[in-house]
Amino acid sequence: MNDLGMLGPGNQELLFNTPLGVLRKNATQRHGVTRWKRHQEGLELLTVDLHPRLLTEEWTDYGTFVMFHEFIHALGWRAHDAEFRSLEARWPNKQAVSQGPLFTNTLRLEQAKWIWYCPSCEGKFPRKRRANGRFQCRGCKVNLLDMPRSSSR
Ligand SMILES: [Zn+2]
Ligand SMILES: [Zn+2]
Repeated sequence: MNDLGMLGPGNQELLFNTPLGVLRKNATQRHGVTRWKRHQEGLELLTVDLHPRLLTEEWTDYGTFVMFHEFIHALGWRAHDAEFRSLEARWPNKQAVSQGPLFTNTLRLEQAKWIWYCPSCEGKFPRKRRANGRFQCRGCKVNLLDMPRSSSR
């Protein structure tokens, strides 16, 4: 971040002093979280938490980007607004940036007990819970069916 010209001396210290933590390993949607505590005087930065899988070699590039994303939050941009997105876009490794959906899907596949199956396009969506007729295929607007994961392999 320093190389990207985004850190003043005070900010650098803030990031070095922020405790890092890990998320529960069964989290799939959230890859990183910046946690705050609300005081009367304002917000205090508590921790930046990353998904534990991002600390493995396989996901280093994407993990570094997620950390960068959380550090932008830590520096005070709390919402994903246009300014946040333009800062985020400074990250040089675009290939890493695009790995988010792949990461989510990898985690979901590993933890899935059910496959939500679209009878129209034959799309398969791994999930922890049954769809129970509550979800539709985005493309087809058809109710997704539940298949136990074991029978789909
Ligand atoms: Zn964010
Ligand atoms: Zn479909």
